[in-house]
Amino acid sequence: MHNYLTPNFSFAPMLPIRAEGSHVWDDNGQEYIDLAGGIAVNALGHCHPLLINALMEQAHKLWHISNIYTTQPAQNLAERLVKHTFAEQVFFCNSGAEANEAAFKLARKYARDHFPDTGKHEIIACINGFHGRTLFTVSVGGQPKYSNDFAPLPAGIRHIPFNDVAAIDAAVNDKTCAVVIEPIQGESGVLPVTEAFLQAARRACDRHQALLILDEVQTGMGRTGKLFAHQYYDIRPDIVSAAKALGCGIPIGAMLTTEAVGRSFTPGSHGSTFGGNPLACAVGCAAFDIINTPETLQNVLRQGEKLKEGLQELSAASGVFAQVRGQGLLLGCVMSDNYNGRAAQLMQLALQHGLLVLVAGNNVLRFAPSLLLTDADLQTGLQRLKAAIKAFVHI
Ligand SMILES: *Cc1c(COP(=O)(O)O)cnc(C)c1O
Repeated sequence: MHNYLTPNFSFAPMLPIRAEGSHVWDDNGQEYIDLAGGIAVNALGHCHPLLINALMEQAHKLWHISNIYTTQPAQNLAERLVKHTFAEQVFFCNSGAEANEAAFKLARKYARDHFPDTGKHEIIACINGFHGRTLFTVSVGGQPKYSNDFAPLPAGIRHIPFNDVAAIDAAVNDKTCAVVIEPIQGESGVLPVTEAFLQAARRACDRHQALLILDEVQTGMGRTGKLFAHQYYDIRPDIVSAAKALGCGIPIGAMLTTEAVGRSFTPGSHGSTFGGNPLACAVGCAAFDIINTPETLQNVLRQGEKLKEGLQELSAASGVFAQVRGQGLLLGCVMSDNYNGRAAQLMQLALQHGLLVLVAGNNVLRFAPSLLLTDADLQTGLQRLKAAIKAFVHI
């Protein structure tokens, strides 16, 4: 097939046609178990009937009207996010990068509003962090290979080692407007934050009147077994970004914040044509009402535990993984020394064996399946991975 798209993506050698739950079919009728979940987006599997209903119902009412008006679906979704988190206000956009872009812009503006002419604009971020692909967010991200080619980059950004308490204490000062942290570094290897690091960040921000931003684009919306991953800790962020699973496949992002901070987004200071559009928000509400239930969140913990155990068993039997890490249904298998850097090769073999998985960097095989993953699909997925590993170790 001719590829009419720019070559920045390396597409897998199959063409997905349709999907349901944790099953995907390609144009040859081949079936796959999906443990990748569209990169932590399809949190309720594919084509969930209640999401289809919400989409169709809204499609007959109002698709788009612009942010000159507010709409009931936008208010309904914002209300849900506010009622179940630290937040008091929500800004809607269309992606994770845009949610973080809004967060960083708001942090700069908040500092300017409250501490004028003090040069308080620095953003402290983590090495190997990932926050999106706009110029600002890719610069805040801690992987220079993603940003170097686009220099000159925005200034006033500093990177420190992830989970390094001494480094955060040393880096945050009166010039800092914000610290940004992922509760689990997703793209760079499914590496969980330590509570000590989060608490140190909170304390450093409080000492220097800086904002704590948590990027929950990947970890939010039930992925770890709580609505947001930071709810495992006794910590109050100033801003949280969400996207990926928020629309379960309909593009939507959100920046959650407090009233005191959100006030700096004065009329006209920031915007979005599509942000908060009624179709996306109606689906978001339906998704929220399924994700934010004890049944779904318990399934995440239960299946997360079983998936972890299954992966550890495969690891013990084959020696391909050095470690299985992560939380809930965001898991990463670190390749062992003998197979260093070969996660993508194993992912390709999994595909050939009817299994969709992800990588995170070149050394971690990543899993982000449906939060509604069933026992049967989990077992079939593990069997197919076992077959793929068997082929992998014989290469
Ligand atoms: C995926 C991701 C983003 C970027 O989201 P997009 O919707 O691709 O812009 C930002 N931060 C984290 C932690 C992510 O996992």
